[in-house]
Amino acid sequence: MRELKVYNTLTRKKETFVPVTPGQVKMYVCGITPYNHSHMGNARPFVTWDVIQRYLEHLGYEVTHIQNFTDVDDKIINAANGEGVSWDTISNRYIAAYFDVMDKLHIRRADRYPRVSEHMDDIIEMVQGLVDKGDAYIIDNDVYYSVEKFDDYGELSGRSLDDMEAGARIEVDDRKHNPMDFALWKGAKPGEPAWDSPWGKGRPGWHIECSAMSHKYLGDTFDFHGGGSDLIFPHHENEIAQSEAYTGKKPMVKYWLHNGFITINSEKMSKSLNNFFLVKDVLAHYSPDALRFFLISNHYRSPLDFSDERLDEMTRSLERLGTAIDNVLELMEMPAGSKSNEAEQLLAAAKKDEDDFETAMCDDFNTALASAAMFD
Ligand SMILES: [Zn+2]
Repeated sequence: MRELKVYNTLTRKKETFVPVTPGQVKMYVCGITPYNHSHMGNARPFVTWDVIQRYLEHLGYEVTHIQNFTDVDDKIINAANGEGVSWDTISNRYIAAYFDVMDKLHIRRADRYPRVSEHMDDIIEMVQGLVDKGDAYIIDNDVYYSVEKFDDYGELSGRSLDDMEAGARIEVDDRKHNPMDFALWKGAKPGEPAWDSPWGKGRPGWHIECSAMSHKYLGDTFDFHGGGSDLIFPHHENEIAQSEAYTGKKPMVKYWLHNGFITINSEKMSKSLNNFFLVKDVLAHYSPDALRFFLISNHYRSPLDFSDERLDEMTRSLERLGTAIDNVLELMEMPAGSKSNEAEQLLAAAKKDEDDFETAMCDDFNTALASAAMFD
């Protein structure tokens, strides 16, 4: 098996990939909050992780891929209240819409898509475990994680607790022991969905779901955890704190991989900036293959600028590539001895390019260089 190098956000360097269990890769990717249609910024990580999974399988690994749906969330509740429907009407509708565009983009399904609403027992068990160990504390009907109890808090984002407190915009809550403490469980408010717990009716904070669900399906330590770079802090930092305090094992994740943003005129595409394009709308004008090719045309950690010109270019590039592949396949099928010198030279060159392709992909899944090898 070729040596695979990956850039690990946790250590801030490229490392040789060594799986927890030889021959196997266990990966967890933070999924969507289904309250609206997926935009291009949402599609990038999912195409990226699909390509990474396919490449790992090409290298010979057996891959287990878990991706959650955050189906209990303020944005879903707000959307439900706005339409006068139940929260799960919203989440079910947009989960179906998500699968619809992901299928069009030829993204293979993950092994499981756990939902928060279906894992309340696992979440409550983990919160209770953290309370029992003294890593979390109860105030009224809320449970908070105590960041001061976790020595390595800040290791993923590379910040100290003091820096965070100085720089953060934190809502004032005098009940908390430390301003950076975060909710594991939130007591029910009127008009919100709520579940029974040892602390009264309520619902989980955001971060705990990924700790509980990754632990349930992938164990104490697993290979890859992925997501957008906006999730490094606080979401992934908090996942590490919760999971490692709960299991007493380190590391929760061997390699943390984060993708860059889709940009428009160098500005991040996001719902809050209202500069986003929905995947389904882009697919009305461009082929799924062109869109997929666009989404991996830069290295996954680099920003990727979205424009019609770029998608037009991708469409033309794919046509050229398709013609070249047809020609090479035809040559390869010709019987030995019947090929011209030129044909033999071309096939030898293609062999070298294939090697360059593998080298690029084994260098932190560099799809940009791998595409260049295909065009050579
Ligand atoms: Zn997550």
